[in-house]
Amino acid sequence: MHGSIHLGRIAGISIDLHFTWFIIFALFAVAITSLLPHEESGTRWLIGIIVTILFFVSLLLHELAHSLVAKRLGIGIAGITLFVFGGVSRMTSDPKSAGDELKMAIAGPLTSAVLGVVFLIVWLWVRATGFGDSAVQVGLMWLGAINIILAGFNLIPGFPLDGGRVLRAIIWGATNDLRHATYIAATGGQVFAYLLMAYGVARFFIGGGLLAGLWPIFIGWFLLDAARASYQQQLLQSALSGIHVRDIMTQNVITIPPELTLQQAVDNYFLRLNHAAFPVAQDHHVSGILTLPHVRQVPREQWPYTRAGDVVDALDSSDFMSPDADVWDALTAMATKDSGRLLVVDGGALVGIISRTDIMRFLRTKMALGA
Ligand code: ZN
Repeated sequence: MHGSIHLGRIAGISIDLHFTWFIIFALFAVAITSLLPHEESGTRWLIGIIVTILFFVSLLLHELAHSLVAKRLGIGIAGITLFVFGGVSRMTSDPKSAGDELKMAIAGPLTSAVLGVVFLIVWLWVRATGFGDSAVQVGLMWLGAINIILAGFNLIPGFPLDGGRVLRAIIWGATNDLRHATYIAATGGQVFAYLLMAYGVARFFIGGGLLAGLWPIFIGWFLLDAARASYQQQLLQSALSGIHVRDIMTQNVITIPPELTLQQAVDNYFLRLNHAAFPVAQDHHVSGILTLPHVRQVPREQWPYTRAGDVVDALDSSDFMSPDADVWDALTAMATKDSGRLLVVDGGALVGIISRTDIMRFLRTKMALGA
């Protein structure tokens, strides 16, 4: 996600904080502090901030539970990003079976529920023994309650909430039809999102105040968008399933030598041949990909004196793909890298190039054929 701060790694999982988290942090710290009964405002603020940090740790543990179970099941996890509505575990591959998805989805709410119970037990203990003042007690009770609410909210059966994943896993397991299961779970997510928005509107008119009404509308709108996007992603993924890079890549790649000038590249390649990019290669060794943005970076009067090999970016392993890889993986890799194309290499030799345009063309043809 853009606009994130890297916090560190836990068990090899990268933890990032999106800047929207700070809005929540400030809102919660203020809200909790105002709930606390205490004469000294300094102590109140201190407890307010500690409670907010513990809430943040609770959210992180919820996401870590998802990620650790996923890792154990062999599902790729790029990392966890905490943002305004909680957290997301960024998966690089999907669960292979309904059972795996169920285990991964349930791990988060289960962790929140256990945390909630633990905080409530500590709260009861503190209250019974009189250890700690009233502000500490309110803080503990609040942490217990919010974790239980978090577990409950996440179990609502609407995709992309955890409960939606649980629902999807159950339908998937029963029908063996992932697409249909995703459709039902995503529909559940949209229904819930509309209900939440309607509740926000009602709350606003009944007189709960602007913020009380806006908050559910905001979350509902976010969920609606996420539910739609996840279904579309599922459609795309199933349209591309079983299709390999070699099936749709462009073969017989036209490469250009590194010493070619940009002027020659423009005149003899970009304007003549219908491609938006050309690998720069010498003796089968590819040193980069020349694209129109590379050319545009150089002032036009410099084109006759600038060599292609000097303006391309160095390549790394993420620029290459095996011809046997899934097209879906290639598309994911392009999205992660924010690039339009990947080089297809087999045994060290360049055998093709695959671009987003190739994939879109394939999908259009498939749709036109009614498949
Ligand atoms: Zn979760």
